[in-house]
Amino acid sequence: MEFDILTEVLVQEELAWGDPGFATAAYASGLTAAPIITGGTEEQKQKYLGALVNDGANCSYCVTEPVAGSDVQGIKTNAVLNGDHYILNGTKMFITGAGYADWFFVLAYTDREAGYKGMSGFIVESDWEGVSLGKKESTMGQRCSDTRSVNFDDVRVPIENLVGGEEGNGWFNAMTAFDLSRPCVAAHAVGNARAAYEYALAYSLERETFGQPIFNHQMIMAKLADMKTNIEAARLLTYRAAWLADQGESNTEAAAHAKRFAADIATEATIEAVQIFGGFGYTEEYPVARLMRAAKVMQIYEGSSEIQRLIIGREITRDL
Ligand SMILES: Cc1cc2nc3c(=O)[nH]c(=O)nc-3n(C[C@H](O)[C@H](O)[C@H](O)COP(=O)(O)OP(=O)(O)OC[C@H]3O[C@@H](n4cnc5c(N)ncnc54)[C@H](O)[C@@H]3O)c2cc1C
Repeated sequence: MEFDILTEVLVQEELAWGDPGFATAAYASGLTAAPIITGGTEEQKQKYLGALVNDGANCSYCVTEPVAGSDVQGIKTNAVLNGDHYILNGTKMFITGAGYADWFFVLAYTDREAGYKGMSGFIVESDWEGVSLGKKESTMGQRCSDTRSVNFDDVRVPIENLVGGEEGNGWFNAMTAFDLSRPCVAAHAVGNARAAYEYALAYSLERETFGQPIFNHQMIMAKLADMKTNIEAARLLTYRAAWLADQGESNTEAAAHAKRFAADIATEATIEAVQIFGGFGYTEEYPVARLMRAAKVMQIYEGSSEIQRLIIGREITRDL
């Protein structure tokens, strides 16, 4: 819709404030569009991105497999050229929004010998013969977001659906997508943490123990002060990562800082919010338990916190 990424993160923070699972579900198409935006042909953009904005179509990003998540080069899915189409085979795992997707971005090997340079991206429509879905996973949190496996069994993919029209760009397109999407996931974490903080602050001012609001107990006040500092810091990292992308500058390191820090502080803040609510926090009567369950996956998907640290380590030593 021609929003810049900074505008997008403002929207994403608010969606996640309301419900992080809803924000993830709504953003699945955003992540999937990214490799087409950065690497697709003009025809692919018109047809498949056009369907997203004009027809309300949905799409899902198919990279992870049962045997390979962080280690993307370990994927088994492959595509073999056969005349004017490719034959695609493989199984993708934990695919957000798969049950609602009209098309998928699928990462596959076209030349396994060439390593990551032998990976290619494909646009695969969900109603093509040979595409089938697994059951919706029962997840710890974010349950309104549909997560399931997708099987590709001898799927005939027309050659014009090879992303960018050339083999070997899949890895690059799939990974640069994260530079655009990680600021948005960081914004989800900020929104999630902010909701937990605001509920906890309000509760701490109402709930009394030992004759005074629990906010006045300095151990509780300190928790809220730390939550607020971390949220402010995470938001600024998020804005910076988005702003750099909008300037057309490299934001790989900035996006990793934002995603790693925001996901970690959201997990911490939501756990502390449950603590501030005491026994009520452990029930579903108040929203903080749901926010805590929702936060955890942010340290896992779109590159885990460990993987973000590896990216930062690589970036800070790149020119040494
Ligand atoms: C709800 C949900 C939605 C998802 N949506 C999508 C989606 O839409 N599309 C998609 O393609 N994928 C999706 N994923 C998959 C997600 O991106 C992967 O789960 C994630 O990348 C981790 O991969 P893995 O689960 O295989 O864990 P593994 O890669 O097996 O990692 C296991 C643990 O080891 C750590 N680890 C791995 N390698 C290293 C290392 N070198 N150094 C230090 N620690 C390491 C990891 O950080 C993790 O803690 C989703 C996952 C979930 C849970």
